[in-house]
Amino acid sequence: MPESVQPDDVCPRPIRRAAGPTFALAPELIASSVWSCPDPDTADELLGGQRAGYVYQRDGHPNADWLAEKLCALHRVEAGSVTASGMAALALAMVSQAQPGDRILISMHVYGKTLQLLYSEGRRWGLETELFDPTSLAEAERLVARPVKLMVLETLSNPRLRIPDISRWAELVHGVGGRLLVDNTFATPVLCRPAEWGADLVVESLSKLINGHSDVILGFLGGRDETFQDALQLRSTWGWTASPWDCWLALRGMASLHLRVERASENALEIARWLVRHPKIKSVDYPGLPHHPDHALAQRLLSGRFGSIVTFELWGGRPAATRLIRVAAESLPFCPSLGEVSTTLSHPESTSHRGLSGAQRAALGVTGGTIRLSCGIESADFIQSALSSALAAV
Ligand SMILES: *Cc1c(COP(=O)(O)O)cnc(C)c1O
Repeated sequence: MPESVQPDDVCPRPIRRAAGPTFALAPELIASSVWSCPDPDTADELLGGQRAGYVYQRDGHPNADWLAEKLCALHRVEAGSVTASGMAALALAMVSQAQPGDRILISMHVYGKTLQLLYSEGRRWGLETELFDPTSLAEAERLVARPVKLMVLETLSNPRLRIPDISRWAELVHGVGGRLLVDNTFATPVLCRPAEWGADLVVESLSKLINGHSDVILGFLGGRDETFQDALQLRSTWGWTASPWDCWLALRGMASLHLRVERASENALEIARWLVRHPKIKSVDYPGLPHHPDHALAQRLLSGRFGSIVTFELWGGRPAATRLIRVAAESLPFCPSLGEVSTTLSHPESTSHRGLSGAQRAALGVTGGTIRLSCGIESADFIQSALSSALAAV
């Protein structure tokens, strides 16, 4: 019988390592930086990749491999690697997929640090980098009129939660011999598996929902086998290997990923519907609401849930946002991250989007009154009453 690859079955399943007739139900933490080899020929084979096994932690270690195996199963991709951070996964994608002189297209909606890495560092490194709006196909023909090596999208953008038509962009970029990379951090494989929509490579920051417990920085890069020939080697060469302890924690956090994503998404939908009717709120962005510009795409690409993030704009700009955050702080902490078990608030203008110019922020729809709510797994009543009292003080 084929093994199930449903998140419900993959996430909680123990790592099976038999020593005698029993095996430890909890994964071991294998912290060793080096393994002993029996003889030079074996060392040669192991280091040359002719034989599977561990030698030096920077090249690979069991905790990272167990975590990568689960992530590959969740994304239904053949190959994948865990990295020291989400940014390390993106850097690994850049150096393994492109060479100086190559042209790469980057969604204008990507995470701020991703923009710095791929656009500015990429340029410094000799790539021809170009930004585009992935929510419009109007310029598509111009974009692919010349060869593209790599196109980079995010499933759900920060903070307006825009969704690109992944399969359409995959078709377009494949038509000119390029590859599509999708950063799926806001969605997780529970909501979306970009490889099934044609993406060649998928990135996750495990620091957010996948670990979920605010105590790990890790990333993942996955894809089809042939896209991975050089990536594993380069991860070791550039020194982007993940620590065993972080991998051990993330395996533990991931055991409940599917339940957390389901609960947080239910909370987000309920809160979004309530916020729409609130008199202090100017607008609400949530792909599960029928008025969201990408609601139809969300229904097609996401698996029936719309994620844990709700973005809203207060009447009254930054002073109103400051009051809301101060009053809410007791029950809804202001944290410039997302995907934790507890509900948190963020303020894009002063955190994730502070490096952009006013005009760039305006183009993305980020103002002083924009609040990004990351729903946790408390009851929806708790979140609503905490927000309600904070809004009353605005
Ligand atoms: C946080 C984040 C990253 C970077 O991940 P780190 O683990 O913090 O390095 C990349 N992309 C998105 C969408 C993120 O939210």
